[in-house]
Parts: sequence; structure tokens; C-alpha cells
Amino acid sequence: MIVAAMRRQCPVCGIPWVTSFMLRWRQNGTITMFLNEDFRAVVVRQSQVTNLVHRINEKLGTSIEHIVFEAQRNAAKMTFDNTFDGIPGVRLALRSNHIKRTVVEYFNLIAVACGQCTSETLFYEPGKRGGARIRNPFYIPMMAAYVVGAFESLEGFPFDSEWVETGPDTYELTVDASSAKPEVADRMQLEVAHVLPGGNKLEKCPRCRAPMALAHWDYDMEKGTITDIRTGARVFVLDGFGFSAVFRELIAELGEEVQEVLVDVQREWTVEHLGQLGFAVSDEALSGEDLEKAYRDYLANVPLDGMGNPVSFEMVGGNIEVTIENPYNVYILAGTLKGLYEALEKTECEVKWNEARPGAMHFTVGPRR
Ligand SMILES: [Zn+2]
Repeated sequence: MIVAAMRRQCPVCGIPWVTSFMLRWRQNGTITMFLNEDFRAVVVRQSQVTNLVHRINEKLGTSIEHIVFEAQRNAAKMTFDNTFDGIPGVRLALRSNHIKRTVVEYFNLIAVACGQCTSETLFYEPGKRGGARIRNPFYIPMMAAYVVGAFESLEGFPFDSEWVETGPDTYELTVDASSAKPEVADRMQLEVAHVLPGGNKLEKCPRCRAPMALAHWDYDMEKGTITDIRTGARVFVLDGFGFSAVFRELIAELGEEVQEVLVDVQREWTVEHLGQLGFAVSDEALSGEDLEKAYRDYLANVPLDGMGNPVSFEMVGGNIEVTIENPYNVYILAGTLKGLYEALEKTECEVKWNEARPGAMHFTVGPRR
């Protein structure tokens, strides 16, 4: 069975075959779907998502769960539409209930391959309803939205959903054919931005072509999780649209002050992440060559997360100047650079950015004035 074979992991680097088949780490700082280089994916840590949700809930005194759900649902539908429509004959084949069942198993496989959860089909009546047991979801509202969007793409019409917690980090999710989607889903547009080429060479695994730097990912295929063994953090791969659609919708619904929260949550997370990675462990600021090396080493990892391609870095009069091509999300990158500066230079700072040219963002980080 193909699905079982795809679960197997590369003997050299440990990445499942399905992951290196489905995703490509490009030379331009992006991770893309194998069928379409414009469709991006990103690597995210669980604490980035949970910190963001908690901070926004706390700051604005309102739950953002429904916004996250609708944005992610649309993004998942668009991602799967792209996959199904991109392979000739697939839509026709999907009229067969047998093939639909296989695709549902493929959805379960993708969830594990991306470290999002384990998902087991409890029942499935093609064209009507389905149920799954989901264990260890990275964040259940987003995970449920993924499943709903996937079903909507597969069946071609909207679904309602509900989930109940049935055990520790275990949920039963049911989806039912529905006649209408909530209003918020309709006004959400997903943008597909074209990306610039790049010459950023990542060392690749000789067997499966995944980047060798991912060898520090420890896959637990039974639990549906990936752990970064350097930091102990849970890592997963998300389609690039869901995350940015969530940000865009938060800003649209809750106003500009959300931008500051987005930057600040990422700043805080980056400081913590740098500590876990062993950068800047001393209480003293780095200086000279050590400082420059630390900046360059951290920036070299940005492409591994699919967040963009840092093409220039300079230290000028107490500021750092960084240009990133194919920036995934300007608030995440601004927060990352701010956190990096703060952790290495041990001082509060401010970040500014402007579009250097189409597809490239220039950031300046310096002491707060
Ligand atoms: Zn490999």
C-alpha cells in the first residue's frame, strides 16, 4: 500500500518519504509544494502559535479562535484545490468513492508527515459526513479547520464541524455536509505572491533530498509529532497561506495594534529560542567578530523555516541592516530580527522596514531612541 510505504522514514536523515516528496526546500528561502513553486509552506513551533493566541486574547480581551478557524479553513481548501486541480485526471477520479476513501487516508498521512497530529478515520460516508480521532493536535481549532478545508476541497461543497475532547490531548472531530459557510469565510481572499529565484545552497540528504540540517528533527510517527532535539520544542509544517491569512484577518478584524502584538510575540519567542540554541548564553553583549558570526549563523537558518532568503547583512553604526528576499511575513521577520538584536546586544531596540524592491524587504534594527 502506497500510504504505508510513504510513512517510512529515510534511513540517512529520518525524514519520512512523504515529507520529502510533498515539500521542496528551494534555493530562494522558500519551502514549496512539489506541484507548484508559488505555493509555500512554513516551519512553525508550537509555542509560536500558542503564545500568539494567548497574548492576543489577553491584550484584546477577546477570543480569536473563530478568526483563526475561518482563515485556516479557507487556506486548507485552497491548498488542496491546488493539489487536486494540478494533477490531470484527479478531479475526474475523485468522483469514485473508493478513490475518495484513499484520499482521506492521504489527509491522515499528511498530518503525520507535517507533525501536526495523528488522525484516524472513524467513519466516512462520501459526500455526506466523516469522523476522525485526532491526537496531539498542534492547536485544535487550526487542526479542525484544516480537516474541514480538506473535506470541502475533496467534496466540492461546504462542511460544518464540531469536536469534543475525549481524552488527554485527544479529540473526536465530526464533519457534516452543510449548505452555507459563515460570512467571515467569504470575504477572506488568499494572495498567491510570485517568488524571486535565489542561489542559497542548502546541503541536501543524498537519499531523499531533504535539507541535512533537518536531521535534528526527531519524528514520532505514532504520536504525529516532530521534536527539535536541540531545543526540545515541538515543530510542525503548515501551509504558508493559513498562517498569513490568520494574521491578515486578525489585523482586519482587530485593528493595527495587532501588528505590534505580532511583532512583540515573535521578538519574545526569538529571544527564548536563541537561548535554547546556545546563542548568547552569557549576560554580556557579544561584540566584534563573535557578534557578527552569531547574526550570520542565525540568519542562515531562516531559509530552513521557509521564512525567506537573507541576501545581505551589514552592521552599520550600532544598527543592523538586513535584506530578505521572499519574506514570508513581515511581522514575523521584524519580530525575529528585533529578538535577535536584543538577545545578542542585550539592549532594547526598534525595527523599521521598507520594500527594497518587489519581493525583497529591507529591515533596520537599532537602539531605541
Ligand atoms: Zn534523507
